[in-house]
Amino acid sequence: MLYDNLAVNSRGHLTIGGLDAVDLADRFGAPLYVLDEDQVRANCRTYVRALADYMPAGSYPLFAGKALCFKGLYPVLEEEGMGADVVSPGEIYTALAGGFPAGRLYFHGNNKTDEDIAYALECGVGTFIVDNHNELDRLDEMAGERGRKQKVLLRVTPGIDPHTLQAINTGRIDCQFGVPIETGQADRFVRAAVGKANLEVMGFHSHIGSQIFEAEPFCDAVDILLAFAQRMRENYGFTVRVLNLGGGFGVRYTENDPVVDIADNIRQLSEHLKAGCKALDYPVPQVLLEPGRSIVADACVTLYRAGGVKTIEGYRSYVTVNGGMTDNPRYALYQSAYTVLPAGRMRDEADFVCTVAGRCCESGDLIQENITLPRPERDDLIAVLTTGAYNFSMASNYNRLCRPALVMVKDGEARLAVRRQTFEDLIACDL
Ligand SMILES: *Cc1c(COP(=O)(O)O)cnc(C)c1O
Repeated sequence: MLYDNLAVNSRGHLTIGGLDAVDLADRFGAPLYVLDEDQVRANCRTYVRALADYMPAGSYPLFAGKALCFKGLYPVLEEEGMGADVVSPGEIYTALAGGFPAGRLYFHGNNKTDEDIAYALECGVGTFIVDNHNELDRLDEMAGERGRKQKVLLRVTPGIDPHTLQAINTGRIDCQFGVPIETGQADRFVRAAVGKANLEVMGFHSHIGSQIFEAEPFCDAVDILLAFAQRMRENYGFTVRVLNLGGGFGVRYTENDPVVDIADNIRQLSEHLKAGCKALDYPVPQVLLEPGRSIVADACVTLYRAGGVKTIEGYRSYVTVNGGMTDNPRYALYQSAYTVLPAGRMRDEADFVCTVAGRCCESGDLIQENITLPRPERDDLIAVLTTGAYNFSMASNYNRLCRPALVMVKDGEARLAVRRQTFEDLIACDL
């Protein structure tokens, strides 16, 4: 199995966190997201411990809510000692509704509106990650109007290409996030920020990309950020106390992806950072990381029911499922690889080559092409693994499909964390 929390029981059914997938689908319906809370906690602990063990005191991980955001996740994150990165007032609202402390929220986004800024200030969001000059000026004014001194990090782009997909690569110079170091613009950004009366500049943020399998691109980013920090100290007497290196560690979608030893990567990164600081005689800053995918992706399985098989003679066979790009748009967006399993027939021979297609009226609505399954019968349960990140959070109501329920599994028990949408939900905003 791709992960340790998955197994096959004596009935030949897939189990997730010890629970039978067929029973879960019978009880909660399908499509269904099944999130293994124990796995989420284990992933959080890996980061929390490694940052505590290897990095300066005060270093900790922030969960990137864009990967997965619903109320019931936030108590888990808080209990595990995580901070949270939020990118919209809706994510702030959700985190606070889940009881998450506002002081541990880090507010991202390249276009925070005045309403967003006001809302975040009123909620007492701990840190703003300022993306650009516009936001810097506006935030300073609005914090001043409220008699606040707001903590901020400045988002800069080190210009690293971590050799990942263009669509999920944000560390290059030419992108809409942050301010580039190489062009000299980040220097002016820092100069302006340290002069703001109502802002307390804690340090820098950079996010170089996603699905990164080794420490090296992060180390490259650290080199560029430290050299920049050194110049800022010389030019403006500003010393970085917090360095937020963003998210991006990869996960295994299929057996072809490598296993990432997150703790060891963090250890390598800390050695690199400490050596770099020593060479520059620079105080080692606290380090924040913002994992999204690597906290939740491998903790979730999506369960679908098959509709049937359609063979286009001379071409290929399609297996249709009762969900698709509405609950998992990632194949349609970037041809992402996934592992697909016959959840109720795990011991049957997988000799039928097929493409798994969703039910939307869109030829791009595919979940995976050229995989093998036992030839599915109508209502067979199909499981797609590693769907915890960028599935639920990217879901839509295209074709007026109701969004699936999300069930959390812990200690062998399942509980509904997000109920399935109803037709009334679909028209709830229609006047
Ligand atoms: C997307 C993103 C993350 C999370 O990335 P993962 O690859 O899911 O770990 C963290 N920080 C920022 C700024 C992001 O844009």
